[in-house]
Amino acid sequence: MKRCLPAWPGVSTDVDIPAAGISSAAPPDTLGRRMRDLRLSVTDRCNFRCAYCMPKEVFGRDHAFLPKTDILTFEELARLARIFAGLGMEKIRVTGGEPLLRRDLPALVEMLASIDGIKDLTLTTNGSALAAQALALRQAGLKRVTVSLDALDDATFRAMNDVDFPVACVMEGIDAALAAGFAPVKINMVVRRGVNEHEIVPMARRFRGPDYILRFIEFMDVGGTNAWRMDDVVPADEIIRAISRELPLEALPPNYAGEVAARFRHADGGGEIGVISSVTGPFCRDCTRARVSAEGKLFTCLFATHGHDLRALLRSTLDDAAIASAISAIWSARDDRYSEQRTPATARQGKVEMSKVGG
Ligand code: SAM
Ligand code: SF4
Ligand code: SF4
Repeated sequence: MKRCLPAWPGVSTDVDIPAAGISSAAPPDTLGRRMRDLRLSVTDRCNFRCAYCMPKEVFGRDHAFLPKTDILTFEELARLARIFAGLGMEKIRVTGGEPLLRRDLPALVEMLASIDGIKDLTLTTNGSALAAQALALRQAGLKRVTVSLDALDDATFRAMNDVDFPVACVMEGIDAALAAGFAPVKINMVVRRGVNEHEIVPMARRFRGPDYILRFIEFMDVGGTNAWRMDDVVPADEIIRAISRELPLEALPPNYAGEVAARFRHADGGGEIGVISSVTGPFCRDCTRARVSAEGKLFTCLFATHGHDLRALLRSTLDDAAIASAISAIWSARDDRYSEQRTPATARQGKVEMSKVGG
């Protein structure tokens, strides 16, 4: 029988504070990159246990997730988003963990949607609770939604989420997103050698057409718990070749400088797909992304080992201008380009877990 409820329930200030000035766009980092795109993580919890992200052996039933008091409140998240917007941030992606596990998420979306300067407000979700929430999210002002889905085949999908969650429930969520007006819905598929590579072409067929943009993501060495090996990565060009053999593709130019996905369209007009080649074709040179974890740490790279404690600033007597100056100082010192420097040794180093900083 189909089961559409979440399957796995709840599983020193180090920032220099420069003299506060009038808030204005943050200066570029040491490699000339502006801060444009904020990933805001609203929870570290998830009801799935995808082995590439939150393997069960590490994130077991006794895993200590953040207590409620450590997590930024909606008011703190919105204040932070306003400060980032004042520094030139134009896009916010709400993520997690699984963001739809955060109670009353549409209320936060409504707060974020009303911030001046934010041109794009999106959400990445595993889709398990989307059927119930899609309309409320749309009405709250969410502009776009991305659903992570690694297979259409039910047995493969259940094995990959590792909590036996049925694919049909995620498909209901995607349909509800379309009905709520979110077309085109982006679908993210992480490809792992020998696990779901046989699903590449079926996924490309199923998500053709104007309602979807399917994006294939190379399996990455995020965090320190997913036992990543280069042998498990299916390179983006191999993915494109596999699809092209059955469904001819044509390359498209990027929508904007710094777009992470390389874009293609079906030659017969059947819509768009993308590949994100973080491992085989790094795109650090244009990376404008900052990430804030649910406990309020700022990470300037997905593969960072260290975050900067913004919660301590938010809960201090500092005003917005002083916090903005602190964020500017962190960003202007940024020199991250992990994917360009990856080696077998760095891949084994402990880094922040993806379930803390989102995708
Ligand atoms: N739980 C939500 C979801 O799955 O969409 C949001 C958070 S999840 C960490 C964000 C994205 O990161 C998902 O699309 C997921 O597939 C991707 N992801 C997680 N671990 C990954 C890895 N090791 N390599 C590539 N992508 C990964
Ligand atoms: Fe959860 Fe998303 Fe990580 Fe899967 S990828 S375990 S759904 S946070
Ligand atoms: Fe950006 Fe870090 Fe990814 Fe490079 S490795 S694209 S700097 S997040």
